Parts: sequence; structure tokens; C-alpha cells
Amino acid sequence: MTTRVRFAPSPTGHLHVGGARTALFNWLFARGRDGDFILRIEDTDQSRSTEASIDQIKESLSWMRLTWDEYYRQTERSGNYEEKADLLLNRDRVYEKEGALWFRVPAEETVLVKDQVLGRVKFETEDLKDFVIRRSDGTFTYNFACAADDSEMEISHVMRGDDHLNNTPKQILIYEALDLEPPKFAHFPMILGEDHKRLSKRHGATSVLNYREKGILPEGLTNFLARLGWSHGDKEIFSRQELIEYFSLDNVGESSAVFDEEKLLWINHQWMKRKDPEKLGRTLKKFLLEETSIREDQLDELEKTRLTKLAEHFRERNKTLRKLAKSSDFVFSRNIDYDETPIEDHLTEESAELVGELAKRLEEVPEEDFKAEKLEEITRDFLASRDKGLGDIAQVCRVGLTGREVSPGLFITMELVGKDRVTDRLTRVATTTPGVD
Ligand code: GLU
Repeated sequence: MTTRVRFAPSPTGHLHVGGARTALFNWLFARGRDGDFILRIEDTDQSRSTEASIDQIKESLSWMRLTWDEYYRQTERSGNYEEKADLLLNRDRVYEKEGALWFRVPAEETVLVKDQVLGRVKFETEDLKDFVIRRSDGTFTYNFACAADDSEMEISHVMRGDDHLNNTPKQILIYEALDLEPPKFAHFPMILGEDHKRLSKRHGATSVLNYREKGILPEGLTNFLARLGWSHGDKEIFSRQELIEYFSLDNVGESSAVFDEEKLLWINHQWMKRKDPEKLGRTLKKFLLEETSIREDQLDELEKTRLTKLAEHFRERNKTLRKLAKSSDFVFSRNIDYDETPIEDHLTEESAELVGELAKRLEEVPEEDFKAEKLEEITRDFLASRDKGLGDIAQVCRVGLTGREVSPGLFITMELVGKDRVTDRLTRVATTTPGVD
């Protein structure tokens, strides 16, 4: 039997990380079994569904590269529901009251859910009341539309958050009433916030696009979400291929996973460091525009190699793309703010003189040779000629060039900042009154 799974969001808001994890688990399950992954928009409740939300759901899934093989909207499928409702009406399994159609829950039955994650869960029909399947306005309710579609779409496994576990017996009863074989079910424990309460907006950013805005890579978010409730030994970092290969319901835990923002940052950092620098550079563009003084036209002119080097040398210290961009502002800004890290705190009479002399030498380097290796050679030769070492001026140069005490290597920093600004900034260092003896 072909594996067919679906992700069935109600388009009433953003796609949050809980939904994204459900989508991911379904997608991995399908891809690992050569099956189909279906996106079904459950928009029968038209008062709460919006087109904007549908767009955001699709954009979020696309950004995470969770591609779907088939796409449906429940509002376009009422024929299917009408047909099945008629069948149930004929069989006297539903009845009409006050304009609505009600499902007749059989008395004194036990409905057994053989859940692939949670195990066997029993429900007594005594505890279930008759429920509406079609509202008086003619729209169908979730449980009915869901079961009608899952059967019609030949879904083999229904996998969703355990907040839906209580709906499952109702859906099984609908299958039985229609003489249809129910699919297999798997319910994933909820994701909790760090306070061990169910993850919600109160916990800060919870939508997928919000994490994209924060500068999280899709590889990072996907890897992190995969580990929320699923494990494969002690392994933490998984490529997409590995996730597809290793994912199975056997290793989905029965207890809730806690959303640990620090861990997300750590995993994201691992992916930033693994990513091809050229590609990383491309994803940086938007953040550079937002976080640095670079203008759009300058960004367009920024050479690919420069962008690539920027990505490569700034990623070590930054766990998100946004932070990376922000920390590189000194490369693009005309003026540096030295208020927090004053040059004079690192400057002596002697280093001022040395830096002044170095600035003159660097001034002579042709623009096209202004590259890290060459700059290192010139600097070291000059210092050696004065019986000095890099340690005598490195820190004050760094502060002068960047306004900070930490930065990428001194020479790549020089290369990225560019000749004119390097000589200007070093001249400024040389003309500052030293604050250290
Ligand atoms: N529309 C439901 C939701 O968004 C789908 C539940 C299911 O997967 O059956 O929660």
C-alpha cells in the first residue's frame, strides 16, 4: 500500500513551530517511504480562515523546503462531504435537528485507537455526545470533513498533534458508519515552552516566518524541529537526507518536548558554519540591508567574493544571519562609534607612531592588491624592520578599524573594510592622544 500522508492546517493564522513540526514529520515519513505528502487546507470555517494565512502557510513550508505532491482546499470539496452525508442520512447514522446534521454516536461501544506513538487508547462512546457534522449554514465541521477527505484521498497514516487525540474516536466512528477502513493514526505530543506550559505566543516568536526574520536558516530550523520529540541515538546534527533516512515513528517520544531557544541557536550556528559560504553570503543580503548602513545600490554592486568572505569570516561568532549582518556594520558604515571601546584605552605613544607609519605603507598598496595575505606580509615586514611584532599594535588596530575588541582576523578585516577606510581609520588611531603609558 502506498504511503500517503497529509498536513491539514486550518488557515487561521501563522504557521507556528508546532504545526511546522507536524508538517515536517509527515513530510519525512512520506519521503522516506517513497510516499506522497499532501497539503490540505482545512478552510471550512470561513469566518476564521483567511487567504493571507494560506499564503503564509505555503510560504513557510516552501521556505523549509517541505514540498507537497498534491494540494487541496476543503471549501472546494463540499461535493465529497454532501455525498457522504447523504449516505449516512440514508443509513440513519445522522439526523437533522434545527437545520444542522448530527452524527448519532452508538451507545455503549468502546473505540480503540491503536496509536503508533502513544500506544492503545480506549474511548467509551458513553462519554461522547452526538455531534454536528453539517452546520445549519450548510458548512461541514472539522471531524466530518477531515474523515471524509482522509478516506477519499486514501490517506494511509493520519499524523498530527495530540491535541486532536480526542477527535480520533469520532473520526473512527465516521469511518465505520461509512463502511470504510480507518487509516493508521499517530499523535505527536505537544511542544512545551521553557516553563513547561504548552508553547504559545506568550513564549515569543513561534511562527516559522518569525524565525526566518530572526535570521535562522531553514536547515537550522528543520534540524531543530526534527529533534523536538524525535531522536536517533545521541546525534544532533542531521542533513536532510539523514533525516529522511532515519526518521521513523518508533523513535518519536511519548512525552512532550521542550522548545529550547538556546538549542535552536546552537543548531542554527552549526548550519551556518556548514553552509557553502557563497550561498550563505546570498542569504545575508536582506539582513545587511536591514542591519547595516549599506544602501540597496551598494548591495547590488557588492562583489560576490566580498560577500562570500564576509559570510565566511563573520559566521564564527554569530549564531543568526541577523546578528552576523549587524556585527559587520563597521565594514559598511562611514563612521565608527568608538564610545564603548575608546581607541585611547589601547593606545601608547609607541603604538601610535607605529600605526601611523603602517598607515603610510598601506596607502602605497594598489587597490587591487589590498588583500589579506598581502596586507599581512607588508605589516609583518614593517614591524620586523622596527624590531616589533604584531602583538604591539594588533589590538589597537582592531579597535580603530572596527570599534570593537573582537572581530574576524585583522588582515581579512582590513581587506573587507577596504583601502580608503583602513588608511583613514589607522590615521585616526595614530593621531589619537594615547591613554596608556
Ligand atoms: N485542521 C486541523 C488543525 O489545523 C487539522 C488536524 C488534523 O491534522 O486532522 O489542527
